[in-house]
Amino acid sequence: MLNIKRSDFEVILAHCRSGLPNEACGMLGGRNGSVEKVYPMRNAKPGPDYYEMDAEEQFRVMKDIRESGFELIGLFHSHPTGQAYPSSVDIAQAYWPGTELPNYPDAVYMIVSLMDRARPVARGFSIEEGRVQEVKLSVI
Ligand SMILES: [Zn+2]
Repeated sequence: MLNIKRSDFEVILAHCRSGLPNEACGMLGGRNGSVEKVYPMRNAKPGPDYYEMDAEEQFRVMKDIRESGFELIGLFHSHPTGQAYPSSVDIAQAYWPGTELPNYPDAVYMIVSLMDRARPVARGFSIEEGRVQEVKLSVI
C-alpha cells in the first residue's frame, strides 16, 4: 500500500492535467510506504501515449530525494486516453534495456488515467520480473 496526502495527490493530478494532450510524469519521494514529496517533471519526449524523463532532471531529483532523507518510493505518469494500467512499453521500460533488471525495484508505478477528464483514476503497481501487481493507493 502507498499512502498519499490529499494535497500531494492534487499536485499529481494538476501536473497530469497540465501535460494534456500528452503524457506527464514525475517522481515521488517518501519512506515507510508514505509519499512525502512530489516531483512533477518534464516529459522529454512528449506524446499522447509516451513519456520519457529527462536524464539530468532525474539525476537532480534523485539527489534531492536522498538529501531529504527519503527514498524513491514511486514514479507517476498519466495516460491521457488509456486505462490506469501499465502498457507493454511501461513494463519494458521498467527494466534496463535488454535485461530483466528493474530500474527501480522498490518503486510503485502510479498511473493516472484521464480518459474521463472529470474523473481521473489513479492506480499503483509494482512491476517485477515482468509481472504486474496492483499496489493499493490510499489518499488520506
Ligand atoms: Zn504508461
